Amino acid sequence: MIRYALSCAAGHEFDGWFPDSSGCDIQLERHLVTCPDCGSVKVRKALMAPAVRTGSRDASAKRQALALATHQAKLEALRAHVEQNFENVGDRFPEEARRIHYGETEARDIVGEASLDEAKSLIEEGVEVAPLPIRPRTDA
Ligand SMILES: [Zn+2]
Repeated sequence: MIRYALSCAAGHEFDGWFPDSSGCDIQLERHLVTCPDCGSVKVRKALMAPAVRTGSRDASAKRQALALATHQAKLEALRAHVEQNFENVGDRFPEEARRIHYGETEARDIVGEASLDEAKSLIEEGVEVAPLPIRPRTDA
């Protein structure tokens, strides 16, 4: 037996039980199904599927929003860590990174800006640099 949600021409909604889906169609075509509220034989299957799909899309959007919020929280935590523990040397980064690498100044964690070319040449010299997915606040 298959249960179908049905509705009549007047908009009454009710359930109908049928041996299978074609049995439902045949009984509806032959006007063998009547509305329990108004007795109308103009009955059709209610469209339930779109509501189900909308529901799952909402859930998926919520999951995506949650994942994004988690991602942003991680970035925010990283930004806070960098701001508290790294010295922001701004555009002097390539120069400072080299001086630290070659022992010309105190070894410490620094953050700053470097162009892609500058970062590449630092890496080629063996200077440990890593790109950050954030920009440290420059107004601090
Ligand atoms: Zn009805």
